[in-house]
Amino acid sequence: MVKICIIGTGYVGLVTGACFAEVGHHVICVDNDEKKVAMLKAGGIPIYEPGLEAIVGRNVATGRLRFTCDITDGVTNSEVIFIAVPTPPRDDGSVDMRYVEKVARTIAETMTEYRIVVDKSTVPVKTGEKVAQTIKRYNKHKAEFDVVSNPEFLREGCAVDDLLHPDRVVIGVTGERPVAKMEAIYEPFQAPIIVTDINSAELIKHACNSFLALKISYANALSAICEASGANIDDVVHGMGLDKRIGRAFLNAGLGYGGSCFPKDISAFTHIADALGYDFALLKEVQHINAQQVERFLKKIHDTLWIVQDKTIGVLGLAFKPDTDYVRLAPAFEVIRPLLKEGAKIQVYDPQAMEKAKEVLPDITYCADAYAAATGVDALVICTEWDEFRNLNLEKLKKVMGHPTVFDGRNIFNPQLMADLGFTYKSIGR
Ligand code: NAD
Repeated sequence: MVKICIIGTGYVGLVTGACFAEVGHHVICVDNDEKKVAMLKAGGIPIYEPGLEAIVGRNVATGRLRFTCDITDGVTNSEVIFIAVPTPPRDDGSVDMRYVEKVARTIAETMTEYRIVVDKSTVPVKTGEKVAQTIKRYNKHKAEFDVVSNPEFLREGCAVDDLLHPDRVVIGVTGERPVAKMEAIYEPFQAPIIVTDINSAELIKHACNSFLALKISYANALSAICEASGANIDDVVHGMGLDKRIGRAFLNAGLGYGGSCFPKDISAFTHIADALGYDFALLKEVQHINAQQVERFLKKIHDTLWIVQDKTIGVLGLAFKPDTDYVRLAPAFEVIRPLLKEGAKIQVYDPQAMEKAKEVLPDITYCADAYAAATGVDALVICTEWDEFRNLNLEKLKKVMGHPTVFDGRNIFNPQLMADLGFTYKSIGR
């Protein structure tokens, strides 16, 4: 059992804390958001993540997991302190490191004896050096410490499963001293552990996310060529994906990537490369293809509907991907906003993300289910590939629609079946 403190109880901090407790560690989750901590203390869960509520409830009940706003409590009563605060983009796309710096400073001012300080936030390469310098500068009690990089690879929507069954654990260190304790934390997860230097550990995270975004943009670029040539993107990526050197995952054509991580991390990585003197033009093109994909989709809508003003458009899916309620930088909004601006009436449905979406777009109609969002519409647009949408009764759907026109931004239906049912059906790269 390791005594752990996690500073930042958001997506990463909360799920990590809960999963560490689940395998037997004692975890104190700290957050400076008093409302969030009060909610967690009262048994509420601030995010939707499958399996999270049960695992939090179980471990709070055993006393292995608790929540506080008091960072001194966390730092004093733990051996290993994880930093899991935001690293948001600045206006120019580079990373805002203020939160990490502030937490490092507070840890330094608070700790009175040896601590391992682990950065779990996604940070630019060489951040470990900066965190170590900061702790040294503000180390009030001259306590010994080690800084470790331990990037997180969880995906929203299956965060608990990813945490409990990681593909690998990356531990970046400057020496041997913290390694055994870090291995003790991760030993119960039975995953390969890679111990490397801090810069490499930090780079692994940005390199992974950028490569995954590249796969998405590659499939999207291919989808444009499929549309121009009459080829079928489904068959092309299937044929590619069976090649073991390539793999099928993330070769999905659609509206492109969005959400809390890919847009900011790819942007951050291009800035990091620039700062290091390398023009990562490949990644800039990945971003460009991603933006183009929504524009190409909107063009399809315009080509079919001609004038959008005063038309009623139903939208299925707001979350940036299924099984999450996360809507920030979701492609759905990139589609909805221009249509709204042109005077379309928008009625939407998402199984989980409507409450969060209302904060961003209050002036559209939120519906009780997919059929309600489709009722009377001139066209239906699919923006997120929830299973619930794949399983819709298409005949019933057609009956409620004003015009049976579907723009499928996620390729969830079979084009032949849709044509046979009498839909005008436009998807991506098919
Ligand atoms: P989040 O916004 O969900 O949570 C961050 C939490 O930190 C918030 O609850 C906030 O109140 C708290 N916080 C901020 N400053 C604090 C302070 N000084 N003291 C205590 N608490 C403080 O963010 P997240 O999604 O958990 O991301 C955290 C980091 O992990 C980011 O660097 C992100 O890039 C990275 N990451 C995120 C994901 C993901 O899917 N969300 C996956 C891998 C890595």
